Amino acid sequence: MICAWTPIAFGRARFTCIAACLAAFAPGLAHAQGGPSPEKMIRTMDDDGDGRISRDEWRRLPQAFNRVDRNGDGYATAEELDAFLKMRFSDGSAPRRDGNRPGGEGSAPPLGAKSAGYEIIDTHVHLGGAPKQRDFDAAMEEALSKLPERHIAIAVLLPLPQHGRNPNKYDHWELRRVVRSDRFRVAGGSGILGKMLYSAANVSENEKEEFRAAAEAMAKTGIVAFGEIGLYHLATPRAGNVFGFTPLDHPLLDVLGEVAAKYGLPIDVHLDVVPEDMDLPKQLQGAGNPGRLRANLEGFERFLTRNRRTKIVWAHVGFESTPYRTARLCADLLGRHDNLFMSIRLPRGSPMPSSAMDSGGRLKDEFKRLFTEFPERFVFGSESMYGSRVSRLYANEFVMYQSLLAQLPPEVARNIASENARRIYPLGGGKAVSSVR
Ligand SMILES: [Zn+2]
Repeated sequence: MICAWTPIAFGRARFTCIAACLAAFAPGLAHAQGGPSPEKMIRTMDDDGDGRISRDEWRRLPQAFNRVDRNGDGYATAEELDAFLKMRFSDGSAPRRDGNRPGGEGSAPPLGAKSAGYEIIDTHVHLGGAPKQRDFDAAMEEALSKLPERHIAIAVLLPLPQHGRNPNKYDHWELRRVVRSDRFRVAGGSGILGKMLYSAANVSENEKEEFRAAAEAMAKTGIVAFGEIGLYHLATPRAGNVFGFTPLDHPLLDVLGEVAAKYGLPIDVHLDVVPEDMDLPKQLQGAGNPGRLRANLEGFERFLTRNRRTKIVWAHVGFESTPYRTARLCADLLGRHDNLFMSIRLPRGSPMPSSAMDSGGRLKDEFKRLFTEFPERFVFGSESMYGSRVSRLYANEFVMYQSLLAQLPPEVARNIASENARRIYPLGGGKAVSSVR
């Protein structure tokens, strides 16, 4: 059983929910009989069968993992689980890795009941995950059932970036085919247009016009954005995605920028920022990434400067596999480029170096300043992959989105939750779907 979002649990304190979650997944444990043992937990979560639960495999709240993993090696072992469960149920709270009890000094402030339950617009959602998971009907079923409990008023569905080696060739019409609720909007372009973008940058005038015509035709179908466009997409081990990039001075990228501006559509881009040429970081080895990463920050700024009238939504702030997208860098870029927006993504597992929240669920000061300084430039983009294995593993992440909002001034929170998205995307009312291909 998985802890669902409940305003009541939230209203009291962040830790109440964690405790509730633990109690929920260990019903009866306090009464000893019938409760899950460490062995049972390992059996249900240990996907690779190495006898312990890695961060990636953990299917409960990330904070709980940090408390279980006492030695911080990234694995929850039977011994650690045993110690944790005993501690948890002997006195009602588990110690953190630093030995302090939750609620002590340095933990996040309790969250007010009135701050919970913001209506969210999720601007970055996929159906299906890995290339072979293409049952969009089943994915739509799952999304439909999840949206209300997650307080998501509107979800923007994007086809995944499809680089050369990614066999998952599809675009907006396939997503549109399964849409069965006015809670959804559809973006497009990563299939048809991506095919041309992810290839060589020396294109003829003819190819440019062909691309423009394809982009315009797509804009007229009622899509609400172009994307997801992989400007620089590092593959992450275990995620099953592939490395791919678009040259940032690609003439077709500028054509896309022109068409997007003409139709008032933002472009959702994925760019793992690389400030300077560097060797591939260790944690990214073995996923098919190149051994040497090429600097892309200056190229990205040139692209933003050339396309000043085009709204660019840079996805995944707070979620990059490298540590370079800091709050400081984001503030610098937002200060220089009025056409730049960002979508916030929270990790489903443990925090990453670039995460906006720490392992205790507290919004980091530098991100709080960033969101408050640029209150109209951020939206949510969860990268939920409905219908995939990942989506079933992490049911609690939207509790974290509400927690982030609750730690911001209410007017900033409302902007980020939904109002900015309504300004940036032409979401309209009712069904923004058409059968035109
Ligand atoms: Zn995505």
